[in-house]
Amino acid sequence: VSGDNPSMPWFGMDIGGTLAKLVYFEPCDDHGRDEAETVTNIRKYLTRNAAYGKTGHRDVHLQMDQVCIGGRHGSLHFIRFPTTEMSEFVTLAKRKGLAQMAHTICATGGGAYKYEAEFQKEVNLVLHKFDELDSLIRGLQFIEENNDQEVFYYSNPRDPATNSKVVYDFSDPYPFLVVNIGSGVSILAVHGPENYSRVSGSSLGGGTFLGLCCLLTGCSTYEEAIELAEKGDSHRVDKLVKDIYGGDYERFELPGDLVASSFGNMHCVDRRANVTKEDLARATLVTITNNIGSIARMCAKNEGIERVVFVGNFLRINPISMELLAYAMDFWSAGHQKALFLEHEGYFGAVGCLLELMK
Ligand code: ADP
Repeated sequence: VSGDNPSMPWFGMDIGGTLAKLVYFEPCDDHGRDEAETVTNIRKYLTRNAAYGKTGHRDVHLQMDQVCIGGRHGSLHFIRFPTTEMSEFVTLAKRKGLAQMAHTICATGGGAYKYEAEFQKEVNLVLHKFDELDSLIRGLQFIEENNDQEVFYYSNPRDPATNSKVVYDFSDPYPFLVVNIGSGVSILAVHGPENYSRVSGSSLGGGTFLGLCCLLTGCSTYEEAIELAEKGDSHRVDKLVKDIYGGDYERFELPGDLVASSFGNMHCVDRRANVTKEDLARATLVTITNNIGSIARMCAKNEGIERVVFVGNFLRINPISMELLAYAMDFWSAGHQKALFLEHEGYFGAVGCLLELMK
């Protein structure tokens, strides 16, 4: 019922440990002059550009058109920047006159608490704070309902030659497990639209991958870390079953190429001398991914849930991890558990937060 809606602009923000995610709803239906002026002002800066300074990006490929929120029609825009730039963002928001346009901004993630006072003081904006996991579930459900191409899986995770991304029909979703891989990891069991619990977590997450990779290779961005990993071979870093057995460990059906010990070869001087930073990046990625995969499998088994949805920006531009997770879930559960992935990766919290405005 559009009459009861808050005034534009509508933003949702998720200020995480590494990345701040901003979702903006741009209406395309006409609702009077005041609103048109606000929308035009925001378009001039936000939706006309795809890059903001050196570190802000709009993920144009994720833009969703013809979305209906609170009875209004329009587009959803997806923007991200490093959380370390929050103060610059606040300054920019002030300069672009956001405070004159917006009265409140819905925010979630730890930064909603950390930066609340700064928003209030600098821009005179009140942050309406919402819980990040409530927002994540809400956003995930909304995006899934509005995009029939959102959910996908890998058709043949055990055979790289024939493996491909396939759209998954998630219209009957419950129950499912959500594994949110951000800086750290949170695992939720979702049984219904308003019925979920946080069942586990891990501090070994995307932030660990990036941190260790920077230490081991001297790289300084996530993009660089992923690029290095793409070119590396983790087998030169890890100790494999065949390094120990000379082949397979047949009695327990453990193939020779299986990792027995992540980074297990790096205590040998000569092995160390032969690895490249690409190999180290790949091994870091594989170690973190496999650890998350194994925690996810145990949680799914404990909860008696078969479908596991992996989200979070650790999966951004990272097919290596997605394919590895799909493989691990399939192989170790003998085909019982299924790994699912979502196109909007790390934006669900911000979307769920925007939707809170309508409540
Ligand atoms: P958080 O809410 O904790 O910031 P995200 O879901 O945004 O979590 O994921 C953060 C993780 O995503 C990082 O730890 C890193 O592994 C990965 N990542 C993807 N893109 C970037 C990027 N441009 N900069 C930094 N980390 C990125």
